[in-house]
Amino acid sequence: MEHNQRKIVLVGTGFVGMSFAYALLNQNACDELVLIDIDKKRAMGEAMDLNHGLAFSGSHMKIYAGEYSDCADADIVAICAGDARKPGESRNDLLQRNTEVFRSIISPVMESGFDGVFLIATNPVDVMAHVAQKISGMDPKRVIGSGTILDTARLRYMLGDYFSIDPRNIHAYVMGEHGDSEFVPWSQALVATKSVLDHCSATGGKYCIADMEKIAEEVKYAGAKIIESKKATYYGIGMALVRIVRAIFGNENSILTVSTLLNGEYGEKDVYVGVPCIVNRSGVREVIQLNLNEEEMQKMHKSCEILRNLFNGVNI
Ligand code: NAD
Repeated sequence: MEHNQRKIVLVGTGFVGMSFAYALLNQNACDELVLIDIDKKRAMGEAMDLNHGLAFSGSHMKIYAGEYSDCADADIVAICAGDARKPGESRNDLLQRNTEVFRSIISPVMESGFDGVFLIATNPVDVMAHVAQKISGMDPKRVIGSGTILDTARLRYMLGDYFSIDPRNIHAYVMGEHGDSEFVPWSQALVATKSVLDHCSATGGKYCIADMEKIAEEVKYAGAKIIESKKATYYGIGMALVRIVRAIFGNENSILTVSTLLNGEYGEKDVYVGVPCIVNRSGVREVIQLNLNEEEMQKMHKSCEILRNLFNGVNI
């Protein structure tokens, strides 16, 4: 990332990819955006449509439908390509199908000489990020999955609503798999700098852990509920991806719950999973290790075991 232009290649111009692209444009988060899709006509149409909105934005982004050779000098290759879940389908059903898709994408990206950061949104995202790292052979710090960043945003939004407090003043994370085994370590959740558990005790029953557990369940199934209502989820993840992009381009050292390869943290190895990470221009600089209690640690191990088994079952 030595040049001044912030260049992103987006592969997959479906609902998620284009929500990401639209948010990039509106937040002026990059200078050059290349769109690639197996359906070239679609990528071209999307580039035209976005370009026609440029005059109304504060951005001077260069947007065009391109080729894998355009990845050579890209800073970020974001992958939102692949099949999405059908109503009632789990993220993991998608795994083998999307691995084939990744093979067809990552090989030409690497052949271009790409030397930036991969940002993966395709589900099941933790395993797909691991698959991307394996196929590319890239330093794991530079292959980032969106992980539980969206789940964490949903949690903060819902807790903010519950406590009637600005979600930005609620510090709580969803950790683990972006999926059924994800969990909220309540022992680490804060309102301002006060533990949410203490905040609940102080209210004499107005707020309680039972309600918060219900919120955690709602967060877990929010994606499925949206899919049931409107067939796909895309605005939230599109904006979450822009948040990660901003942390990278701004060299922010922001803490985000993205999916990264653990190497001994939380007593786990060789597994991509959503954990709070310091994200900067180099990708994931470092994993933050929270002081999980024993029960939370068990949940973390369970989630990691599920993801490791899934990854080991993939034919890469
Ligand atoms: P979509 O069907 O609208 O778009 C997928 C796009 O990928 C299509 O344009 C398709 O032509 C393209 N594509 C398929 N195979 C390709 C290939 N080999 N090369 C290039 N392009 C290819 O789906 P969507 O709703 O945008 O979802 C995309 C992915 O994002 C899904 O896997 C979905 O589950 C995932 N998703 C992740 C999160 C998250 O939190 N990480 C949230 C929502 C959706």
